[in-house]
Amino acid sequence: MASVDRNQWLPIEKLQKLQLLKFKKIINYAYNNSKFYKDKFTRAGIQPQDIKHKEDILRIPFTTKREVLENFPYSLLAKGYKLPNCHIESTSGSSGLKLTVAFDYKAKDFCDCVYGRALFAIGYKPWQPMAYFWPYCRHRKEFHEYLGLMKKNWISSDMKAEDQLEILLRLKPKIIYCFPSILIVMAKIIENSRSRYSFLKPELIVSHAELLTEESREYIEHIFGCSVYNEYGATEFGFRMAWECKERKGLHIDIDSVLIEFLRDGDPVKTGEKGEMVITGLVNYAMPLIRYQIGDIGTLSARKCACGRGLPLVEAIEGRKDDFIKLPSGKIVSPRALTPLIRKYKEVIEFKVVQKAKDRIYVYIVSSGVLPIDTVSKIKESLLGIINENVDIFIERVGELSRTERGKLQTVISEVNDK
Ligand SMILES: [Zn+2]
Repeated sequence: MASVDRNQWLPIEKLQKLQLLKFKKIINYAYNNSKFYKDKFTRAGIQPQDIKHKEDILRIPFTTKREVLENFPYSLLAKGYKLPNCHIESTSGSSGLKLTVAFDYKAKDFCDCVYGRALFAIGYKPWQPMAYFWPYCRHRKEFHEYLGLMKKNWISSDMKAEDQLEILLRLKPKIIYCFPSILIVMAKIIENSRSRYSFLKPELIVSHAELLTEESREYIEHIFGCSVYNEYGATEFGFRMAWECKERKGLHIDIDSVLIEFLRDGDPVKTGEKGEMVITGLVNYAMPLIRYQIGDIGTLSARKCACGRGLPLVEAIEGRKDDFIKLPSGKIVSPRALTPLIRKYKEVIEFKVVQKAKDRIYVYIVSSGVLPIDTVSKIKESLLGIINENVDIFIERVGELSRTERGKLQTVISEVNDK
């Protein structure tokens, strides 16, 4: 933990050097120990010694989710590793592909420290009770949990919001670790019954796994009466890759654990421009993942954080490439632009926007009581105001929304293939 804690305060130049060193080491290791990467590098006509500078990374071919799915475990697991000796995790399948990833235990420990670093940065004390929302509860407790430290009180994300709130009332957690879509549904219930939940006073909320818009954050903060911090991660890289410190002006990237590139059509974008994120894990030697196309869009920031940490900042992650609405003219619209226009109505509990064709968008809404015609027209009007093209919008009230196996709610999905 000490070195992980120290790293965050190193100057950016030192961190970048450390990152490059780790990168070269894992490239060399993957070439010599992973059949998958040996074949990939050979096909591309490169060897580890060709990768001298950070720019050389562009010569390495990408790794796709489908390749991971098709090659797990045999050609992806490094020499000497067997599944029973690894820590195993599966992805949520929100991209449509459910993947399994194996970690060596040293990598697992490192990732746990990275997880702790982000929580301690926002003032979490390891002895404080934590409510941790996830679809399943782990049977195996971590060693520190036996000591009563960083103990996760698991609450199933599949439960009804009323039941989740009952557990929260009983636990009285200081910190809640949860998906924003669940926080919003709970907040709507609290808003309608303030006195019943007056004893629920968390000091911190961490939002992760889904897109957190500023208006959602403000609403959750207003109802729960505490700050909400955003985290970004992926199971493939030990869950955590970027997180907000107390400043909350961008997310610090764990560059001692991952190397994130921001690309457009394969070339790096300028700092401050939106790019497709491509990730190389720097710590997992059981199953290296190099230049992995995670599918998320983000913007690398040039700003230095006022907290003094050297870890660079990524501006808010915009969501997955598949979450962008693709319009007939070729223009794309970020989910961040659309969701506030629907969320702001009191009667809207949760919703999902599905683009089925370039000129056809469906909005499914779960509402408290009837959805007034007036609200439906206002939503439609404001969406068309942003879209400003010849697109049909259909709004339907539904009883519930489909979620991924892990209970994640994708608020905006485009089924339009732009290729
Ligand atoms: Zn900071």
